Amino acid sequence: MRLRVSLPVPIPVLVLILAATGRAAAGHGHDDDGESLHSEERGPGDSHWSYEEPERWGEHYLACSGTMQSPINIETEKTIFSPQLRPIQLSGYSLPASKKLKLKNNGHTVVLELPESLAITGGSAQQYRAVQLHLHWGSPTTAGSEHTVNGKRFAAELHVVHYNTKYDSFKAAVAQPDGLAVLGAFLEVGPRENPFYQEILKHLRKIQGEDEEVLVPGFNIAGLLPDSLHLYFRYNGSLTTPPCFQSVTWTVFNQTVMLSHDQISVLVTSLQYDYGKPLQNNFRPPQGLHKRWVLASFEPTFSRERQVPTAGQTSSSFHAGDVLAVVFGVLFAITALAFVFYVYKHRSQNARLDSPTKSKVIYTAATTENTA
Ligand SMILES: [Zn+2]
Repeated sequence: MRLRVSLPVPIPVLVLILAATGRAAAGHGHDDDGESLHSEERGPGDSHWSYEEPERWGEHYLACSGTMQSPINIETEKTIFSPQLRPIQLSGYSLPASKKLKLKNNGHTVVLELPESLAITGGSAQQYRAVQLHLHWGSPTTAGSEHTVNGKRFAAELHVVHYNTKYDSFKAAVAQPDGLAVLGAFLEVGPRENPFYQEILKHLRKIQGEDEEVLVPGFNIAGLLPDSLHLYFRYNGSLTTPPCFQSVTWTVFNQTVMLSHDQISVLVTSLQYDYGKPLQNNFRPPQGLHKRWVLASFEPTFSRERQVPTAGQTSSSFHAGDVLAVVFGVLFAITALAFVFYVYKHRSQNARLDSPTKSKVIYTAATTENTA
């Protein structure tokens, strides 16, 4: 049995204050000069950096040493529930097979270019248009997601990159504090082949070498994301590759996406860079949170009740609910025992009211003291 409890803290007030604080930090906490230095000479697809020494990216790309970097480790017990975070709404994500998309090995990842007809429409007043999606992964023996949850790293991670339509293009938006929105989803090994991911994976052997590309038929891009688009974490961060611009509003979904073991294996073993090196472990380690807050669209304490176990989907679990249930259970038990003891004792006293023993004890003691 689990006890359900609600926190006695005025959460909505807390959320408003903390969200406002987070936004203020987002607007002022980064170094614009450093970011713009390299934006023209080096694009996201260049190969003058590698995952071998991510801690040294800051030497050439100043923003990479900033205080609002991504990815991060999400500590679920420190997230703040924000009821304003509405379900993510997508439009135009289902593409016909007649629409051909460019799939490219850029030496750092596999990138699927997306038409601008794909958009995030729900929630905020800002609209975001899709640009591309790509993946991060590990090796045959190690996990490779970028974000981690309570220290757990998942097998791989999908990023769908969008730019804010208040800017004319992705290039114009990429270094602006509110320029980009990235949807992140964790991939895990499950029992079945995922047909949506297969639309990408079945082409990887054609683009094994760096800079190779192929045109692939369109499909329902939304199928790459979890079923539940209403359970997610939100924070302000950055591109996870140089030039590390601190321009990303991150949405990291709580529900994971399942791929078969063979599919994950194809993902981590197919691509190469630098003429024959295996393209693996293309994830950046977690960055410092500094003064940022991570918001959650749901209350992690109650997440188990809200999870819908659908085919091919699972979710991460949380311990806050269990701890609270145990604490309140113990408190309840102590209170109940004390009450029972009180009742028992009270009845015993009533039963002894006429007994001379009690008054005799008190009288004897006092007498002894005074006459000694
Ligand atoms: Zn990425």
